[in-house]
Amino acid sequence: MKVAEIMTSNVISVPEDASVRDVAQTLDRHRVSGLPVCDGDGHMVGLISEFDLIAKPEAHTAGEAMTRDVISVMEDTSVDEVRYLLVHRRIKRVPVLRGQKLVGIVSRADLVHEIALTWVCEVCGDHERGTTPPAACPRCGAPSGYASVPTPPIGVA
Ligand SMILES: [Zn+2]
Repeated sequence: MKVAEIMTSNVISVPEDASVRDVAQTLDRHRVSGLPVCDGDGHMVGLISEFDLIAKPEAHTAGEAMTRDVISVMEDTSVDEVRYLLVHRRIKRVPVLRGQKLVGIVSRADLVHEIALTWVCEVCGDHERGTTPPAACPRCGAPSGYASVPTPPIGVA
């Protein structure tokens, strides 16, 4: 599965010259812990998190407080690769780019949501998505043989 299928595409971002107070209010209002910072062309130039705001009290703007060296992925990056990044780089969210343009963001919550929607057939291993398991497996026909998916080991593949 590609990250484009599970990312949040309505990304809230802030401009570089946004005041630290504006950033704090945006984080607060949308209950997120970090936001991409974009230039006038929608190109991501950094990421600003609640940590940046707390750690850099002398900063006045998003551009001053943001982290510039940001790990990002492309739309066709696999969800598994994103999971690996979130775990091993100890980050909470990864911006998704198309070229240089910000098109989405994928967070730990998006991966948790995906786990909650995935069911796997205990007979044939078929994966299905939905809020409830299918009554019968569409591949092998096993009746209600579905369990919530066991998380595969990190770093395989
Ligand atoms: Zn099956």
